[in-house]
Amino acid sequence: MGIADHPSFKKSLAEFLDFASRLKVDLVELKMDRLELLKALSSAEKAHQVKQLLDTYDFKYSVHAPSINVNLASLNPTIRKASEKVVTNAVRFAAEINAEFSISHVGRLSKDYPKGFLEKALKNAVETLKRINKTANDLGIVFTLENDHKAKDYILAGYPEQLSFLIKNVGCKLTFDVGHANTLKKPEEFIEPLKAFIANLHLHNNNGKEDSHLSLRKGNINFQEIFERLGDSITNTPLTVECHSFKGLEESVALLREKLG
Ligand SMILES: [Zn+2]
Repeated sequence: MGIADHPSFKKSLAEFLDFASRLKVDLVELKMDRLELLKALSSAEKAHQVKQLLDTYDFKYSVHAPSINVNLASLNPTIRKASEKVVTNAVRFAAEINAEFSISHVGRLSKDYPKGFLEKALKNAVETLKRINKTANDLGIVFTLENDHKAKDYILAGYPEQLSFLIKNVGCKLTFDVGHANTLKKPEEFIEPLKAFIANLHLHNNNGKEDSHLSLRKGNINFQEIFERLGDSITNTPLTVECHSFKGLEESVALLREKLG
């Protein structure tokens, strides 16, 4: 079981890792959007410092590539290239710290464009993700894309059909975010078509409308039903709790321990 960091946390990375130690989880998901970690992607010296800090703990790590301002599907070639570089650097960082796997979002099509441009954006995303997945494989790192939540812009990786298409064409795995799925339709409906590809689960709750990353004790997701449908397919799959508060993380880890024994 693990917990995910978040760039909005007011504590430093070291304080977050200390918190994870107190919760006795074995996996920590590093969010490269955290300002301290963004610097590690552009400065070898900062990367070295971060590696030294991570080495002082016993955790397994996963690496969530930056997603803020990053868009692998962008129709602007300069932005798309820069986004590919950002995510590739995160995959390289994951390899350097011997992370278990890496995670990236796909990107969206701005609603300032006509909907007819969706196909172009999707094609861009597939081509870019294929190259990133190859780099990850060459470095021995599992690469997963994460399902998107409801958004103002057109989403490319939210619904089960979109995810199946991307995963099959890119050849990567899936980080299945149950909370994100719940903003689009019943998360249970994602499981049958996608369970063979799930390499990581993101767990948090919401009311089905907004991606609020609440404690598992709040919101309307039926986790019991989801775990039942996943069955044996997730015996070795990490459960990464991704609430946006320390209280939510603590409460959710306790709840999972209580339910899963
Ligand atoms: Zn997530």
